[in-house]
Amino acid sequence: MNAEVSIVRCEDYDPKRVREALLEALAPIGGLDFVRPGMTVAVKVNLLTRAKPERAVTVHPAVVAALCALLVERGARVVVGDSPGGPFNAAYLSAVYTGCGMNDAVRAGASLNDDFGFSDVSFSEAVAAKELQITDYLLAADAIVDLCKVKTHGLMAFTGACKNLFGAVPGTRKTEYHYRYQSHEAFGNMLVDIAEFLKPCLSVADGVIAMEGNGPSGGTPRFLGAVMASKNPHALDLAAAHLIGLNKDDVPTLRAAHMRGLIPESADKLAVYGELSEFAVSDFKLIPKQRLESWGFKSKIFGNLAAHVLASRPLVYKNACVGCGECKNACPADAIAIEKKLARIDREKCVRCFCCQEFCPKSAIQVHRPFTARLMSRSKK
Ligand code: SF4
Ligand code: SF4
Repeated sequence: MNAEVSIVRCEDYDPKRVREALLEALAPIGGLDFVRPGMTVAVKVNLLTRAKPERAVTVHPAVVAALCALLVERGARVVVGDSPGGPFNAAYLSAVYTGCGMNDAVRAGASLNDDFGFSDVSFSEAVAAKELQITDYLLAADAIVDLCKVKTHGLMAFTGACKNLFGAVPGTRKTEYHYRYQSHEAFGNMLVDIAEFLKPCLSVADGVIAMEGNGPSGGTPRFLGAVMASKNPHALDLAAAHLIGLNKDDVPTLRAAHMRGLIPESADKLAVYGELSEFAVSDFKLIPKQRLESWGFKSKIFGNLAAHVLASRPLVYKNACVGCGECKNACPADAIAIEKKLARIDREKCVRCFCCQEFCPKSAIQVHRPFTARLMSRSKK
């Protein structure tokens, strides 16, 4: 297990400061030594949706550009890409690239992915997902760099390096995965499978401005001032989650990674270059916890009942909804109807994947924790 993570201070997105921070973060973990002149390096960035950099939904272009420049200086051919939740085609991605400021990466010598093919692959070592659909530009690359943003996440509690690689699955095919892997455990294992299949050579986190609250798209930017790097995406996530007050048991991908021996049980057992404690914030606004196991609902009947009554669910805020239908398009369970310019969710059909919350452009859907669940947590404490 590689448990090395580095963390360095970066106060803002000034290009020179970001470059220096990246160089400092990369040095103790072997930097870009894996790069050979002429090789193709795919930089898998988090471009969840078309969003201005200051909203902290996507990786900041200054970090993308600085990392690309360092790779180009090593002689690599660099391709920057992602496949967000919409269609995986030139028209959609061109709007996302422009809206997220990815032209900065082009100025740094990289190209933006224009190969919208994908392939079926088998992964015999997988725990959950032995058959996957993966975008071709990642399969064709000699090396993958995973460049993520530190954010809260409606379904997974936290998104960092591991969850970022879900963008390797092409566009709308992702909704099928939400339907196929419905429990947190299954979904977490599927995400770890993808990460282990792709095996990025390097993972880097933009934690300069993170996102708290209603993440991954409707939350609030929050200063952390950190750039982080690791050769192990799960170790990076364990450290980043620790900064915002989460441990491995709070995050399904970390639980799954720990079960497989990919990370130690807690952040204090990582080999950290830098001081995590200097970056940790105690009041980071998190997503309401969704775990039911802690209440001891082990039988299937009571477990299902508990899930119905206690589990967090998406709630539409009527005053913010404009009836655009983006949530309906993203829903894998066909649980959303638009009536009188307002989204309505059928609770019986809903599988609580929170794709609607993720893709609502107006932040009109939030993760709601039922009163009974909040009450039970209080009495448990
Ligand atoms: S995506 Fe958001 S704004 Fe659009 S219909 Fe759904 S809830 Fe309303
Ligand atoms: S309503 Fe939202 S949370 Fe429920 S299944 Fe559809 S997208 Fe997922």
